[in-house]
Amino acid sequence: MPISPDDGEHADIYKLRIRVRGNLEWAPPRPQIIFNIHTAPTKKVAVTKQNYRCAGCGIRIEPDYIKRLRYCEYLGKYFCQCCHENAQSVIPGRILRKWDFSKYYVSNFSKDLLTKIWSDPLFNLHDINSTMYRKVKALEQVRLLRIQLVHLKNMFKTCRLAKNILELYDSVPGHLTEDLHLFSLNDLTAIKKGDLGPQLKELVRLGTLHVEKCMVRIYISF
Ligand SMILES: [Zn+2]
Ligand SMILES: [Zn+2]
Repeated sequence: MPISPDDGEHADIYKLRIRVRGNLEWAPPRPQIIFNIHTAPTKKVAVTKQNYRCAGCGIRIEPDYIKRLRYCEYLGKYFCQCCHENAQSVIPGRILRKWDFSKYYVSNFSKDLLTKIWSDPLFNLHDINSTMYRKVKALEQVRLLRIQLVHLKNMFKTCRLAKNILELYDSVPGHLTEDLHLFSLNDLTAIKKGDLGPQLKELVRLGTLHVEKCMVRIYISF
């Protein structure tokens, strides 16, 4: 593969350095879940704070190469071009604070992490930013539906005829019908797209229908 003069120069500095997994000046990024938005410091300040090392691999950056470092919007740190290949992702903090689903540039490490946790219910909106329910109508709708779903599901657990309806409820991730405020990135994206609300609404409708039928059964059996 031909390399541009730019890449060639870049590659040279890597050959000269031995990569080490952590030392006093640098530690590998941890797979942490960040709820906040970073206020991007100037590159100079940030890179000084990083001891002139890439946040991903710890390689030392010569002053001439600082301009080529890339910012990772998720970790709020600068990375070398090997560790940051301009992948893009939504940023949990931006969704949770501003309902902003734009994609931002992230390091390879963050891209992997965010992909891995995509469906995990890691975000308790009530704890992180409950005002969002008031600001976003679709979220408030989902909040109200979940109250009903949790209640309905608890009723089904005492009903010996609820096997089918419980199976239907299992068609959505368990936390949506068992917890009131936990969300995954996938849930939040589905709400933004307008997909999740109608799906939950249908589960409430079917659940209510089941309960009504059971009431009739109980009434008849008396
Ligand atoms: Zn690196
Ligand atoms: Zn029942």
